[in-house]
Amino acid sequence: MIIRRLILSFLTGVYLSGVQAGSPPDLPDMGDPTGTLMTPRQEGELGAAFFRNLHGQLKIDPDAEVLDYIQSLGQTLTASSDAPNQTFHFFVVDDTAINAFAGPGGYIGVNSGLILTSESESELASVLGHEIAHVTQRHIYQAIQAAGRLSLPAAAAMLAGVLLGAKSGNGQMSQAAIVAAQAAATQFQINFTRDNEAEADRVGMQILSKAGFDPRAMPGFFERMQQSTRFAGRNIPEFLLTHPVTVSRISDTRGRAEQFAYRQYPDSMAFAIVRAKLRVATAANPQESLNHFKALQGQGDKTRRDVNRYGLALALMAGSRLDQARPLLQQLVREHPEQAQFVRAEARVEVEDKNYPVATRLFERALARFPDNRAMTLDYVRVLLTTAKPEQARTLLNGYIRYQGASPEVYELLGEVYSRLGQEAESHRYLGEAYYAAGQTRAAILHYRLARKAAGDNYYLNAVIDERLRQFLAEEAERRQR
Ligand SMILES: [Zn+2]
Repeated sequence: MIIRRLILSFLTGVYLSGVQAGSPPDLPDMGDPTGTLMTPRQEGELGAAFFRNLHGQLKIDPDAEVLDYIQSLGQTLTASSDAPNQTFHFFVVDDTAINAFAGPGGYIGVNSGLILTSESESELASVLGHEIAHVTQRHIYQAIQAAGRLSLPAAAAMLAGVLLGAKSGNGQMSQAAIVAAQAAATQFQINFTRDNEAEADRVGMQILSKAGFDPRAMPGFFERMQQSTRFAGRNIPEFLLTHPVTVSRISDTRGRAEQFAYRQYPDSMAFAIVRAKLRVATAANPQESLNHFKALQGQGDKTRRDVNRYGLALALMAGSRLDQARPLLQQLVREHPEQAQFVRAEARVEVEDKNYPVATRLFERALARFPDNRAMTLDYVRVLLTTAKPEQARTLLNGYIRYQGASPEVYELLGEVYSRLGQEAESHRYLGEAYYAAGQTRAAILHYRLARKAAGDNYYLNAVIDERLRQFLAEEAERRQR
């Protein structure tokens, strides 16, 4: 438990080391000509590598609807920060522990457990605002400086390995990560954490109120988290371990929040919808979520009641009771044709029921109405693959990655599409990209070697493959050197 605690504090705590070690108080800007500091580009690369490494250790929620929501909430907040042009990447981790964290390059993760514990959207926004402040105030940047003596792949693996050790506590890589993290954490005392936490609270609250959320949600949420530890001592929210909340911190935050005029802050429907989805996804079994939503039927305002009906339909789907879910969703879509999540769920019932002609018709109609919808596009690509239409799937996916970028899931789909098209070299290349994006460079190398074999004498393709292989091999060698 002590190791776990050290490791957890490490990720947010290590950034103090730069200060602790007696660095000059006026740290030069990034891109310092002496070359001792990271350029924004290098930090971006470190962030991307950190994110790839996380995939092996945490379950990043692949649901594009959940991702859309957290990214849109995150963008609303960063637009109100003093670094509106800085790049941020928000994502949700499938984990019921109450936690959120910020890594290098503006990567900010929120656990599904924290979203479900938030009683209002402002509470969730207050945690995001706090994490954003850790990034804009360069608290993370100093952690990167501490890791600066490492090569980029090694630094990324170590930063992510801190979480790995905390999560699984087994396996070779995690043992190495634990040792490294433990050494680092004991070397750096964490007295400064409170200053950083106080600053993140102060700056986070400015962001929160400027973005139109309730500043009182911040002390309220912290207080509730802290109170929960009194009754369930052994279940201390992870967030409190990585961001220690003290009595004075809560009272400082409350004092600051009280200066804002009181008003109502209604939650968005999207917030309620994402919570309903996560409630079903994290339930121990379908019956549990079914009971939850049945108990809520007819409660709250119209929006609340509609979202609860949606949650009930999702719970029925999870329990394979499709004939009961179908009419509920059809009714919701009739009442809310503008709500993409309802429209998508209606089509997904038909997919679950293997009713592909109807599913195809519903997705065609839905995508005509919501052409940029990521979740629907990927669902429909899967339907096209199931119904042996790989050409159509390829066209749709290629359009998708041009505008939306790719994730391990999207690369995997592309691998499948090209396999169906009989293009083995392309298929292995995309599977290689899928593994690389998920932090599994060795598996990526294997697939790229298979791609090389299958490519024959296609000169252009060979050149592309060789270039990527060289890069992966170099990264793997650097990572192993540590
Ligand atoms: Zn913090």
